[in-house]
Amino acid sequence: MTEYADWSAIFRSAIESAYDAVLITDAELDLPGPRVLYVNAAFTEMTGWPAEEIIGRTPRVLQGAETNPQVLRRLREALEAGRSFDARAINYRYDGTAFHLEWRTAPIRDARGRITHYMSIQRDVTAEQRLMGRLQQLADFDDLTAVHTRHPAENTLKVEIKRAERHGVPLTVIMLDIDHFKAVNDKHGHACGDDVLQQMTRLISGRLRESDLLARWGGEEFLAVLPHTAIEGAREAAEAIRGLVEQAVFIDEIGITLSLGVAAHMPGDTPGSLVKRADDALYAAKAAGRNRVVTR
Ligand code: GH3
Ligand code: MG
Ligand code: MG
Repeated sequence: MTEYADWSAIFRSAIESAYDAVLITDAELDLPGPRVLYVNAAFTEMTGWPAEEIIGRTPRVLQGAETNPQVLRRLREALEAGRSFDARAINYRYDGTAFHLEWRTAPIRDARGRITHYMSIQRDVTAEQRLMGRLQQLADFDDLTAVHTRHPAENTLKVEIKRAERHGVPLTVIMLDIDHFKAVNDKHGHACGDDVLQQMTRLISGRLRESDLLARWGGEEFLAVLPHTAIEGAREAAEAIRGLVEQAVFIDEIGITLSLGVAAHMPGDTPGSLVKRADDALYAAKAAGRNRVVTR
């Protein structure tokens, strides 16, 4: 073991070969911003910026149209307050392509505590962002029918109920369920039943407006959220959907009918209470003989 170690050489070598990108600037926060004094090999690998080209310039050359200005403002606030800052934002490579960056910028102080430099440790998280987006997509959209799942529909309901209460705009929901669908599965097979579900949701989506939301609430039960729609409009939409589905011929010459329950928002409603009224109306439609719309 050696007695003496040149730690500055060791640190330099460690940073030079670090897996993450490292960038060191001076401590000048005013325009044109801090100047880059050092970047390691991983930085050049990640951004495509050769060290000799970025040294002397501001790290702002990495930012662009899609870089979130709020994140940059918070970064500046943190640095002015002498704090370190962790964030994610879109940055741009040397060739102009965008990527998702996760980084920490921290002040470096001298023996007297004055900030002399900033160090930024950076990582490309584009693949992770993409994966997160894909997972979100998988969670928010039903595999079979491609309409929304229950969770995003509940979020939409929360938002729309707030809007209805604040601005007094009408809001309605339609709960619908296929009549005797078990018999369809029994007679034609489950795969055929799946095709019917797919074709039927496409038909219903086509009748709804862009601002409406259709969600698969459970098995063969669907919820439509109709913002800015009063009860008469929703009843009309429900009746139109009922008629469309009744007249449609699905795969294997299958014909189905729907029972639909319509409910309008009332002051004090929660998503649960509003959906419950639509569900009660649906149940009443079933009890009254199916293939009909009941309004609550
Ligand atoms: P009702 O008129 O009372 O609604 O009768 P129903 O037979 O439709 O009864 P229910 O609404 O309880 O239907 C549930 C049936 O829907 C049972 C199940 O076989 C079928 N189902 C639920 N999800 C799926 C699915 O993803 N694919 C297929 N093929 N069938 C499904
Ligand atoms: Mg059913
Ligand atoms: Mg059902």
